[in-house]
Amino acid sequence: MKKFLPLVALIFIGLSASAQERKVLFIGVDGVRSDALIQANTPTWDSLTSVGLYTFTSWHVGITVSGPSWSSMLTGVWQDKHGVTDNSYTGSDFNSYPYFVTRAKEHIPTLKAVEISSWTPMCDVSVGGAVYNNGWDASLNPPTDDAVEAVAVTQLLDPDLDVLFVHIDDVDAQGHGNGFSPTVTPYMSQIEYVDSQIRIILNALKNRANYANEDWLVLMTTDHGGIGTGHGGPTTVEREIWWVAAGNNVPNTEISIDLPNTLELFPDPADYRDAPMLVDIAVTALDHLLQPLNIDPEQQTAWNLDGQSWLGYGTYIEEAKNADFDFEIYPNPNEGEFRFVVGSDIELNDFTWEVLDLSGKLVTSGMVSRSPGLDSQVEMNITELNTGVYSLRISDDSKISVRRIIKK
Ligand SMILES: [Zn+2]
Repeated sequence: MKKFLPLVALIFIGLSASAQERKVLFIGVDGVRSDALIQANTPTWDSLTSVGLYTFTSWHVGITVSGPSWSSMLTGVWQDKHGVTDNSYTGSDFNSYPYFVTRAKEHIPTLKAVEISSWTPMCDVSVGGAVYNNGWDASLNPPTDDAVEAVAVTQLLDPDLDVLFVHIDDVDAQGHGNGFSPTVTPYMSQIEYVDSQIRIILNALKNRANYANEDWLVLMTTDHGGIGTGHGGPTTVEREIWWVAAGNNVPNTEISIDLPNTLELFPDPADYRDAPMLVDIAVTALDHLLQPLNIDPEQQTAWNLDGQSWLGYGTYIEEAKNADFDFEIYPNPNEGEFRFVVGSDIELNDFTWEVLDLSGKLVTSGMVSRSPGLDSQVEMNITELNTGVYSLRISDDSKISVRRIIKK
């Protein structure tokens, strides 16, 4: 009977979470270097990082050009899978790796998703040779960033809207015109102007008639940095970007990793995995939208996504992909007190558990002897550790399973 306790808790959490409608606002700002964003005066960006999960050390391991980068964000895979290597979108394989809204619609056919961008290739991927709408109910292409902002505000009046992607282009234009650098005034001024545009969009979000009954995840990132008046290469200032998530199930934490100094053309993403990456946009959005549906992890594995989710639900696509067995953490996110349970039905010998921080450093560990026919349940207390993301690794002599713990 012991087994039923956590199950009851899980169902209860599931019901309370699904009472609100899950929705996603993704604001992508083209060509914003991390060091420039850190130095710019951006109160709206700051209002998101003050409550959300963010990094200024996201490493762009792909081609630092808009077409491939936005494709990686929206599909959740790198260019070796989605096939987009430049702004012509030639070679795209969106049939195999569609945008995340298409994946979400496999499970939520009524989902309403809209994209808005003044950058025409974003809204006309027919240039790649075939027409893909990639799941958008509308792909809007106003002529300027100001018009994009106005259309976003109008779209947010629609009570049925579930996913809105807003692409803001003019920081990149200033970079090409005057230079991508924190020392270039027009570039910095444009970042600060975009901050005011984001404020207007977020206000429109909060003024939605049904906002109190909605659970919005806000995601933001950029497609690349820049060097001189260009980008597309492998330098640090082109690759080092930022990433923000804010919402009810997002822990408030800054993630900062040591970035190796390399000019490799295609660095191994695994070396930068401890901070959010471009491909995590799609997967985090999918996790938010689909998590209440308890979708079979096998199905998500078949999508073959490269991204991982940074939400604290305890259900992670990439973990399902890598785990030899399943175990549960209650509650997650937590404030440092939680328990994990390995069910009696799991074929696992006496095992070791380890809690690691994001740099992979062992924080605490222990051993558990298995009793046949009984669940293994371990009470944990990491209240003395900093808030943030940790991983809990359970292994015996042949099997391993890893889950993330979000400490609030
Ligand atoms: Zn550009």
